[in-house]
Amino acid sequence: MAETKNPQGLVFAGKKRAGQDEFDGNDDFIVTKKAMVPPSSVWEDPAAALAAARHEFGEHGGVNMSIEASAMFTVMEPETMRRMFSGELGPDRDFFIYSRHFNPTVLNLGRQMAALEGTEAGYCTASGMSAISSVILQLCGSGGHVVASRILYGGTHALLTHFLPRACNINTTFVDIGDLEAVKNSIVEGKTKLLYFESISNPTLTVANIPELSRIAHEKGVTVVVDNTFAPMVLSPAKLGADVVVHSITKFISGGGDIIAGAVCGPASLVNSMMDLQQGALMLLGPTMNAKVAFELSERIPHLGLRMKEHCRRAMAYATNMKKLGLKVIYPGLEDHPQHELLKSMANKDYGFGGLICIDMETEEKANRLMHHLQNCSQFGFMAVSLGYYETLMSCSGSSTSSEMDPEERAVAGISPGLIRMSVGYLGTLSQKWSQFEKAFSKMQESGGLFYKN
Ligand SMILES: *Cc1c(COP(=O)(O)O)cnc(C)c1O
Repeated sequence: MAETKNPQGLVFAGKKRAGQDEFDGNDDFIVTKKAMVPPSSVWEDPAAALAAARHEFGEHGGVNMSIEASAMFTVMEPETMRRMFSGELGPDRDFFIYSRHFNPTVLNLGRQMAALEGTEAGYCTASGMSAISSVILQLCGSGGHVVASRILYGGTHALLTHFLPRACNINTTFVDIGDLEAVKNSIVEGKTKLLYFESISNPTLTVANIPELSRIAHEKGVTVVVDNTFAPMVLSPAKLGADVVVHSITKFISGGGDIIAGAVCGPASLVNSMMDLQQGALMLLGPTMNAKVAFELSERIPHLGLRMKEHCRRAMAYATNMKKLGLKVIYPGLEDHPQHELLKSMANKDYGFGGLICIDMETEEKANRLMHHLQNCSQFGFMAVSLGYYETLMSCSGSSTSSEMDPEERAVAGISPGLIRMSVGYLGTLSQKWSQFEKAFSKMQESGGLFYKN
């Protein structure tokens, strides 16, 4: 084994971490472009980008990266500390201070997320909400204005409607992002800092025209932030024109239903500004991801593509079959979905149309009756919030994840009281699971009289 010098000046016998780049003289970026962008940087697909990204080996040559489970990092020379705090020496050269700032393991997960989304940099946070709130706070100071889609995850909607106006004097105009004129007219030049929307919206599965929305925003100097939680691998918003992509890793990317986590993917200058010791929202508000969690998640990203394909394949099969049963199904893979062609034109090849389906049962009572049978009579899935799990999850959005919105807001957003949001799992065989659905559906019709004659 070669004797190597660790970056902070300690000498030890060990293996140099494979693939580690020598300092190339550019210390503006926490993640140098050289490390981030695959050599043939023609964007093909997120899976190709992930495979081309730097692979981190363990400290002892392990195939997996080591977990840097340290809150703080030592130096050999007192002068090194001063240079780190002045910003002269940073994580791009493997100099670390304290893990709320940068932790090598969390940074590696951020690199994977950046590769996945095709952005220059990425950083991971303790939740999706902290990624979202930190980005908004970083880009939008007091008095700033946001234009946002009127259909958003309930937490984000509440953040923009209630919390940010009260706590920070940041105000939002909500628009139908399908109406490009309305979006354009809502932007107040000089005042509007960002345009915020979801690539595929929660819960109505409306697909955003990312290239057009980005063009409109950029014409007026507005930054585009896209929540891509519903469509990792399927859509790559940054490659379609968006500036920043945020994620709730909690959902598909984790896939285990066991971890709350988030990510911000965007230009290195934004990620660096969010970690600034004086002005950084991530640094100063501190929604830090634990290194052990980062390691765990990093092991799941390599099979995200396979999982997404199977989520999507089954969702497509169910949606087609449900429609044949006469149910009112909303699924972007169906030709009758208003943005079916749009999604087809934007999506990465061969993943499909997303892992979520909505069934509009019109009333909450009917929605509840169907979910009851699906869970308790045939074990088709679980009644639970969230998405991206290997089991199918179902919830009635109006009375659960979108209950932060008042009834009028829900009506405007097109969330019917009987809307069931279904996150399609991949456990079991397709035929086994579909027969469970059919069984529950016919039981429901027997018990409740002729369901569609009500
Ligand atoms: C769940 C979710 C969030 C919030 O993420 P957390 O990880 O729960 O904080 C944000 N946006 C969307 C679209 C979500 O589904």
